[in-house]
Amino acid sequence: MASGKDILIVAAHPDDEVLGVGGTAARHADEGDKVHVLILAEGSTSRGEQRDSNAHSEAIDALKQAARAAAECLGTEPPRFAGLPDNRMDQLDLLDIIKHVEAAVNEVDPAIIYTHHGGDLNLDHRLTHQAVLTACRPVPGARVEAIYAFETISASEWSTPEIGRPFTPCHFVDVSGYLERKRKALECYHQEMRPFPHSRSIENVEHLARFRGGCVGVEAAEGFSVCRQLRF
Ligand SMILES: [Zn+2]
Repeated sequence: MASGKDILIVAAHPDDEVLGVGGTAARHADEGDKVHVLILAEGSTSRGEQRDSNAHSEAIDALKQAARAAAECLGTEPPRFAGLPDNRMDQLDLLDIIKHVEAAVNEVDPAIIYTHHGGDLNLDHRLTHQAVLTACRPVPGARVEAIYAFETISASEWSTPEIGRPFTPCHFVDVSGYLERKRKALECYHQEMRPFPHSRSIENVEHLARFRGGCVGVEAAEGFSVCRQLRF
């Protein structure tokens, strides 16, 4: 783990940042790193329940509040919201998504970036992955040391090899001491969570953390695939 570095999490939807990297984010913050979060899409608007615009904007505001409360639980900076349309990011030019990522990367100057796995079932996740890797092309002068992809329950394991490469972690972070804070952060997103045995349930988040921990001999872990590492 780094110390005193700027970290950037680029998530497609509010709650992905906690599901994928919540324990690691809290650990970075505790170890003196500054953790920034960019959330690209609004969340909730594609779910069809909010047809009228008032209810719609109330739902968006509630999700922003949830994201801010979750950030407080984890000790990360207040999240930035790009406000792109939820589950319709494919209707945008990829360049427009990249511009939001580039703006955050230029401002934050992160040493480490965490973002979505490129093989997820969710289209916004795949586009987010592509936008991050494009925005962070390793041209001369680029300063990003590492880009890691996180897994998102109900998107990574629901995918197929036909959609994208299955998520196979090779970088693990021990989050044994951070599960409680991850759980509290997820409780801020109670409207996004579902009862067990739905994949996106608090119980399943804990099961996954225990399983990833067991993969590497610790009580709980978050797993990542390595997109790029560069030691300057
Ligand atoms: Zn998502």
